[in-house]
Amino acid sequence: MWLVGYVTQPNCDYLFKVCMLGDEAVGKTSIVLKYTENRFEESYKMTLGADFATKVIKIDNYRVCLSVWDLGGQYRFRELRKHYFKNAAGALLLFDVTRPDTFLHIDRWIQEFYSYAGGELILLGNKVDLVKERLVPPDAGKMIEKWKGIPYYETSAKTGQNINEVFMVLTRKILRRHLSAYNP
Ligand code: GDP
Ligand code: MG
Repeated sequence: MWLVGYVTQPNCDYLFKVCMLGDEAVGKTSIVLKYTENRFEESYKMTLGADFATKVIKIDNYRVCLSVWDLGGQYRFRELRKHYFKNAAGALLLFDVTRPDTFLHIDRWIQEFYSYAGGELILLGNKVDLVKERLVPPDAGKMIEKWKGIPYYETSAKTGQNINEVFMVLTRKILRRHLSAYNP
């Protein structure tokens, strides 16, 4: 199941849980921080366990509340991640365009997400502001988009590039799936 629940807050028509996925230090916490508080921090603080933030999005006539779960990407938290995936309606899956290893792990994350949760996925190539350090080209992300049918966006938590857009696209996809499942 990908639906968390209805109207658990009086000001929401729907509440959906979404997860942030991807290797350590790809920018998961930074993207949530930019999105929810419009802040960016250069210094790296490892996320221990999980954290979550909420945000209200207006789509058509609906007020949709998102609870954004930021998981520790560290491999040793794999067992814990299963529990965090539970009831997720969707996820943003990130890699870091300056670190090809984080791109090579994408498929592992996709498999893990579909085996424990399911729902909508969006792929983000993050840190595109680091133009000189960039190693993973845009076509690599587009290849995954074609191959797996997962929309690909290029983001920067530093400049804010595409940050609002990716949450909007993900929420629209989740809402559309929900509405068509319940009003066939
Ligand atoms: P997480 O482990 O996936 O949650 O990664 P963090 O959000 O903690 O980010 C790891 C490091 O990368 C931090 O030092 C951030 O400041 C930096 N970072 C994250 N996103 C960006 C970005 O879009 N551009 C740049 N230049 N640095 C970023
Ligand atoms: Mg983090």
